[in-house]
Amino acid sequence: MSKTKPISFSATNRAQHLEQLKSKNFDILVIGGGATGCGIALDAAARGMKVALVEKGDFASGTSSKSTKLIHGGLRYLKQFEVGLVRETGTERAIVHKLAPHLVLPEKMVLPIIKNGTFGKWAASIGVWVYDLVAGVEKEDRRKMLSKKESLEKEPLLEASKLLGSCFYAEYRTDDARLTIELIKRAAQYGALAVNYCSATDFIYENKKVQGITCLDHLTGASFKIKARQVVSAGGPWVDKLRKINNSINHKKLHLTKGVHLVFPHEKFPLRHSVYFDVPDGRMIFAIPRGKITYVGTTDTNYKASLDRVVCTKADAKYLIDAIDHAFPDISLKETDIISNWAGLRPLIHEDGKSPSELSRKDEIFESETSLISIAGGKLTGYRKMAQRIVDLVDKRLPEKYASCQTRKIPLVEDSLKNTKAVNQYISTVEGRLSKIGLNEYFAWYLVTTYGKQTELILDAMSPCSDDPEVALARAEAWFGVHHEMTNTLVDFFVRQTGRLYFDIGSIAAIRTQVFADMSELLDWSDERQLAEEKQLDLMLQDATTYYDGEIEEAGSGKREAGGSIGYEIG
Ligand code: FAD
Repeated sequence: MSKTKPISFSATNRAQHLEQLKSKNFDILVIGGGATGCGIALDAAARGMKVALVEKGDFASGTSSKSTKLIHGGLRYLKQFEVGLVRETGTERAIVHKLAPHLVLPEKMVLPIIKNGTFGKWAASIGVWVYDLVAGVEKEDRRKMLSKKESLEKEPLLEASKLLGSCFYAEYRTDDARLTIELIKRAAQYGALAVNYCSATDFIYENKKVQGITCLDHLTGASFKIKARQVVSAGGPWVDKLRKINNSINHKKLHLTKGVHLVFPHEKFPLRHSVYFDVPDGRMIFAIPRGKITYVGTTDTNYKASLDRVVCTKADAKYLIDAIDHAFPDISLKETDIISNWAGLRPLIHEDGKSPSELSRKDEIFESETSLISIAGGKLTGYRKMAQRIVDLVDKRLPEKYASCQTRKIPLVEDSLKNTKAVNQYISTVEGRLSKIGLNEYFAWYLVTTYGKQTELILDAMSPCSDDPEVALARAEAWFGVHHEMTNTLVDFFVRQTGRLYFDIGSIAAIRTQVFADMSELLDWSDERQLAEEKQLDLMLQDATTYYDGEIEEAGSGKREAGGSIGYEIG
């Protein structure tokens, strides 16, 4: 571990983190607390570098909480001959699963083969065989080709009249926000100093080289400087905004595309397995059952509106509902069945003449003349290799000799469950404990696949005298989030820490008041801050349940603008 003594990753220590950020000179400063930035922070800290990271919202508040939440090689990229990308992400799947078995869970997929579909029987059989081979999938997990009858047994909701058979193959499912949070917590254990709700607003130059940044703290309104020998921008969709401030935009630019997911109650869309199915326009989308819900996505459309408030439009919802209707006509899902949604932006690299779905998902590193390094593109799945490439580059630029990349051997949670069997056994143990206090097996599954063995801390923190066990559990989670995950706001809690906005939106009303009261006390919120918190959560709830006529435009555009983009500039 790094020699720096870590400060506990508690929101109550934020002022201490800020003091240290102001007073030290870092080897590497990362802008952006998505999976890429947090992955870089962990890699660099584990090699012994002095690391700082700033995130303008919450960790994972950008694209890293809006993905399809799959750790996958990207089967369709093989059709685009992106063999290198598929090999890297395909191989990474198994590694990331081993690093966090409670969070990256094996997920079998059904790829239906239909008349005039994207994949015919032979193409699917050979394509997925190559996919497994390229990614080094274990023998027992390799794809199986199923007859029509076997396919319908696996997934009775598939439409029988069009079905010719299916391919049953292996991927992994995750919670992208939780993965990102665990990455930054782990980086902090290795000595990285990270704060959320701090924007990089400008660069500091010495001898025409970037040697730090100016920051705005959104929770206090204060401005301050951080000095570092190397600054890396992992700003996702915001990378070009930072390159613009650095005057380093050139012919290679970002091309943003929007992806929307819709959430349905599982009883309305009772899938048994995840399905990767055809859409009439030639694209393919996922339907993924998860706990109480099934989610479906994604769209892929060009995007030029607000980066800070990305919403689902009526057209997005219609596109996905029509797609479901086409593949699963018997369930007759309607817009009124949608209970939540999320919309995110892919920071892809522009290529002239290519449609959104044709653009490469490969990552790209930009090096400016003033030595700013920026990284964009890529996949959540490939975060570790992207981080390795960046830290190798930083290592080359610094005069000292650091250790080589260590992250392949660092479990994301210190007290890690070793494998899927251990995860399932632990779920059973937690089930036993929860049943005594009136919480059913859903909560055991939820807790273990969200927090792993850290569930112990939450169960220990549950108050025995609170009358409603669901409220008692949420309060213990809020305590845990504030003290161990730098959960700073109500939105952090309901969206990123617990995923309730997407996976259990119905539970929010019953626990909101008590979680608000506890967080307000733990974090000593002023009256003004309390109002901002309520307003921000209401806005998130509105966006997750509204289908807008059009996009929300950038502030200052003169059109329908993004109100409350961050919402915490309190000062
Ligand atoms: P982000 O997560 O956006 O992080 C960038 C961060 O930088 C943000 O949190 C932002 O707030 C912060 N920031 C920006 N400017 C500043 C500033 N000035 N100061 C401080 N902080 C700043 N990949 C997969 O592997 N599997 C999938 O299933 C998958 N599905 C996807 C589905 C959709 C719809 C989309 C959009 C993407 C999907 N991806 C998937 C891709 C994956 O989500 C992204 O590659 C990944 O999350 C990008 O992470 P990032 O850290 O680069 O960007």
